[in-house]
Amino acid sequence: MYLSKLFIPITKDLPAEAKIKSHQLMLRTGMIKQSSAGIYSWLPLGFKVMKKIEQIVREEQNAVGAQEMLMPTIQSSEIWKESGRYEDYGEEMLRIKDRQGREMLYGPTNEELITDIFRSSVKSYKSLPQILYHIQWKFRDEIRPRFGVMRCKEFFMKDAYSFDLSDEEAKKSYNKMFYSYLKTFNRIGLKAIPMSADTGPIGGDLSHEFIILAETGESKIYADKNIFEINLNQYEFNDTSLKKMREDFTKIYAVTDEKYKEEEFNQKVKKENQMFTKGIEVGHIFYFSDKYSKPMNCLIDDKDGKKTSVKMGSYGIGVSRLVGAIIEANYNNDVMKWPRNISPFDIVILPSISKNNRKNFEKAEKIYKELKKQNIDVLLDDVDENMSNKFKKHDLIGVPYQIIVGSKSEEDNFEFKELNSKSEILTLDKIIKKIKN
Ligand code: ATP
Ligand code: MG
Repeated sequence: MYLSKLFIPITKDLPAEAKIKSHQLMLRTGMIKQSSAGIYSWLPLGFKVMKKIEQIVREEQNAVGAQEMLMPTIQSSEIWKESGRYEDYGEEMLRIKDRQGREMLYGPTNEELITDIFRSSVKSYKSLPQILYHIQWKFRDEIRPRFGVMRCKEFFMKDAYSFDLSDEEAKKSYNKMFYSYLKTFNRIGLKAIPMSADTGPIGGDLSHEFIILAETGESKIYADKNIFEINLNQYEFNDTSLKKMREDFTKIYAVTDEKYKEEEFNQKVKKENQMFTKGIEVGHIFYFSDKYSKPMNCLIDDKDGKKTSVKMGSYGIGVSRLVGAIIEANYNNDVMKWPRNISPFDIVILPSISKNNRKNFEKAEKIYKELKKQNIDVLLDDVDENMSNKFKKHDLIGVPYQIIVGSKSEEDNFEFKELNSKSEILTLDKIIKKIKN
């Protein structure tokens, strides 16, 4: 892609409510555009990043045996009346009427709908366990939407639902998701802490929030630093090992302020290991047993032919929130550097161009074609402006690798730079190897 052709409407005047870096940066680089309070359009650059995150989330869900499906955004109120949440959910729920006057709603979450699907199709323990998920827009009429894509009314979420015969079996599903979440956040370069959490309106007694550290986060965190020392690779993908994994994580003290007690913190965590910081919730998992299956009559025949309510959990990841969260975690000294597997482009070519000298530009085009042939997603900055402006702009767009076609680049050797590092002179082959390795 040539930068001059890319639809990237840069905003120079930031609105006053854009207080945090991710919000400012996403507006400045034309990743998103607000359409009304808490509702955004995703423009090409932002959309590309979000899609890459979505794909990683998808792969890690599939890897633990969850199956993808797609439920609608609009739901009927009937099922929510059955579960009792139609009243409970309050004003965060966007309620709509269709032309027949039927009460509908824009789904804030999908426990009811998936339970309805499940009860009408699965009758026997033999079909269990099952984990189903979708990645779909949600709507919550948040009282104070803020921080750009972090707290929106309309947002993109991966939500999964597990179905098991017994509490014991259900906890195995819970552990699989716990593992999948840690793997997902690792892959996108985030250090996430699983924290024991309150269950809120979803209900249940077992719940963890996954929180990444960031000064601008809304959650206060009190934790033992040792939580970062656990290496996920030591666990195998079987029930025993995953149980051990969750125990290892949950043994280490880590809570948000809802559960924080000073005395307990000091008792359980050595002074030098105490960490008090802020964080962003990027995922939340719940085990709530038969909270929905019971009132909604979602019954399963057990081994003895006896009917029992299916045991359920639900598991959310804020896919659109992650775009902002990754910026908060990676923005440093006015430079944004995307992790390479999420970056909107693999590499950018920056030729030093002027009206009188087209040589660098021609060279850049040649490199561009070669990289394209190698299936590398390359951006060519063909905009006629001075190099210092270009560098500033690309510090914000955040593509991690650059080829600078200027005085230092020769016929077959080019100036190659990784954001935040010194440049080096390399052949194109070496550059390609570096990006592909
Ligand atoms: P929060 O505590 O931040 O309000 P929640 O507990 O209501 O979130 P869940 O129902 O657990 O959220 O949703 C799963 C995930 O969806 C959250 O971990 C978060 O990443 C994301 N999410 C929730 N609400 C929003 C929102 N208003 N805007 C963007 N992402 C959201
Ligand atoms: Mg939550």
